[in-house]
Amino acid sequence: MKKVYFKTFGCRTNQFDTQIMISKLSEFELTDREDESDIVVVNSCTVTNGADASVRNYISSLKRSNPNARVILAGCGSHSKGESLFADKKVHGVIGHSEKEKINEILKKPEPFYQIGDLEHIDSSIVEEFVGKSRAFIKIQEGCDFRCSYCIIPSVRGDARSHKAETIIEQITKLAGNGFGEFILTGTNVGSYGKERGDSIAGLLGKISLIRGVRRIRIGSLEPIQIDEAFLELLGEPWMARHLHIALQHTSDSMLALMNRRNHFKTDLTLFEKIAAKGYAIGTDFIVGHPGESDAVWREAISRIEQLPLTHIHAFSYSKRDGTPSASMQPQIKGDIAKERHREVTEIIKAKNYEFRLKHSSDLEVLLENGKEGVFYGYDQYFNKIEVKSDEDLSSNWVLLNEIKVQGDGNYAQF
Ligand code: SF4
Repeated sequence: MKKVYFKTFGCRTNQFDTQIMISKLSEFELTDREDESDIVVVNSCTVTNGADASVRNYISSLKRSNPNARVILAGCGSHSKGESLFADKKVHGVIGHSEKEKINEILKKPEPFYQIGDLEHIDSSIVEEFVGKSRAFIKIQEGCDFRCSYCIIPSVRGDARSHKAETIIEQITKLAGNGFGEFILTGTNVGSYGKERGDSIAGLLGKISLIRGVRRIRIGSLEPIQIDEAFLELLGEPWMARHLHIALQHTSDSMLALMNRRNHFKTDLTLFEKIAAKGYAIGTDFIVGHPGESDAVWREAISRIEQLPLTHIHAFSYSKRDGTPSASMQPQIKGDIAKERHREVTEIIKAKNYEFRLKHSSDLEVLLENGKEGVFYGYDQYFNKIEVKSDEDLSSNWVLLNEIKVQGDGNYAQF
């Protein structure tokens, strides 16, 4: 049997896609030894120019480390760079997203192939990924209808389309029956769930909550404009994790317009205050250093960040992606300035998170992951990490914690 090695670049969605390909490989052997493989499948990422370069460098390095291996390009990079890499004979074959489930047949082909497929397909199998024995990530949709100026995703993953609610329910029912209690719904643009068939993320949440054994549901990331009244009504439900991740990307309206975002600061602030008033922790994504972010714009953005009831942040320094509108925008922001802004915004949210933890240090419902030598880690309902010391084996257990030591770098408890 020929041996196949998978090299995965990029985000969690790509990790999921690798799992799909692995599950379909019936006539090949999976190996974790790159140097002894006959075929290397490179599940690539193309989110920035830097990501493209990493994939290209890896492919060149294979020519030296394992010159006889057949190199197959899969993933987002196959839709942006596949054609040129194939034409230049840098890879033996190219597989588009829609072709993943046919990988077993495709890899049997002796001749070079360029099988890019389409961007409308949705995989028949839903991917789950497990953390310990009780937390599962479930991919509920694929693609995005938004067209943010800096983002290449829609052109390599296609428009939004969703898995059927029945399939998701069936999958979660099975896992809940096997002891899984927490479910994290993920996808490229989770909040757009069901749009194409008159369903919604709120509708899906309602259905999932009825499954016996489902204790807590988290949602990967939402866009502000996707949060409607039906969704807000669910915030009081006991099975909703008390933390939402809502992607703002910026707080200056001129930057939001440049980024072709659909949110505006005034409505974002009202929305965040409403959600925070219900006892929720709120996280966001934020891009610093996008072209056009002058000093004046930055000062305004920072004062607005101070006003928002935020508790978590994923700040990214803008990185150029050819083929996107942002790539040709001026003026560009220097790397050291972006780095300083990244630090500034991260520090502000770190302080806000600490304040929040001080006020929320009892009745913490924590699902612990596997531990080692009496030390366990988990997240509470507010998505704050906690370290728990115990003489008991608490792996994959739910614990209710009341005596918490809140420190600058995290929460600690003894059980
Ligand atoms: S919402 Fe914007 S940033 Fe997110 S995937 Fe869609 S286009 Fe990209």
